[in-house]
Amino acid sequence: MWSSSFDLHCHTTHSDGSLSVDELADAMSEQSVTVWSLTDHDTIAGWDEARIAASQRGIAFIPGVELTCDVELPWDDGILEANARQRPPSSWHLLAYFPNEPIEEGLKKFEEWLSPLHEDRVPRMLEMIDKVNAFGMAIEADDVLSRAKGSVGRPHLAMAMVDAGYVESMDEAFEKWLGDGRPCNVERPKPSLAEASALVHAAGGITSLAHPRYYGVDYETLIQHLKASKVDAIEAFHRSQSDEERYRIWKLAEQYNLRVTVGSDFHSFRGGHRPGHMPVIVRSLPELISSA
Ligand SMILES: [Zn+2]
Ligand SMILES: [Zn+2]
Repeated sequence: MWSSSFDLHCHTTHSDGSLSVDELADAMSEQSVTVWSLTDHDTIAGWDEARIAASQRGIAFIPGVELTCDVELPWDDGILEANARQRPPSSWHLLAYFPNEPIEEGLKKFEEWLSPLHEDRVPRMLEMIDKVNAFGMAIEADDVLSRAKGSVGRPHLAMAMVDAGYVESMDEAFEKWLGDGRPCNVERPKPSLAEASALVHAAGGITSLAHPRYYGVDYETLIQHLKASKVDAIEAFHRSQSDEERYRIWKLAEQYNLRVTVGSDFHSFRGGHRPGHMPVIVRSLPELISSA
């Protein structure tokens, strides 16, 4: 049976989406989504709000998160080009879902593990400040750290650079110095799929590799790697994939006894995007999700 009632991948202002949790819940309900998972990047900060917003609208809510993991297989330039990907991947994204009441002890461990993944690490910040100083911009660590109410991140450093007159705007600070791949950025360490999956499983959750077409890896090789890493599913039904591609990944997943998931990866209404409207074969979803 096909269904368009599931949307298991989307973002709010808790990460890089432009809608609040409530606004997104409205959009889900307007588009007839009845099983919804919120999957902000590396944070579960939206879960409590989303649980309430969903129940007010009669939607089943599945707590989720999109984990930034390491690139685990080499990409093929030809495949990237065929998929119209401009740049090689800098990370792989693993969706984690907790359809059942999570296992308390496991969830605590998972949350502790997750928090340093969110850009809040002081040692990384100190390293970035060293780099900024080495480029002749005198910024004091205390100045940056004291700007952060909770966890310190690149925006605090960017603000200090604006105030000191080294750049005109925060955008300029990111574009010239602090953004990914820019000279003063220090990459955060990323977990492997196997490590992330083990932690999610210990908390009673399941995992699915997000948007498989972004990685420049042949799908069969990719699926074999997911099986070896104990990942439960693959997002065969992602917005970016054509019908033909969805079908191909779904068939391969079946062959390897891997489940599939579905997601709009909705961030904002720009470019005519909307949540939902993603048909999926219900029997191929992870059981914990199809029964939600
Ligand atoms: Zn992603
Ligand atoms: Zn996403």
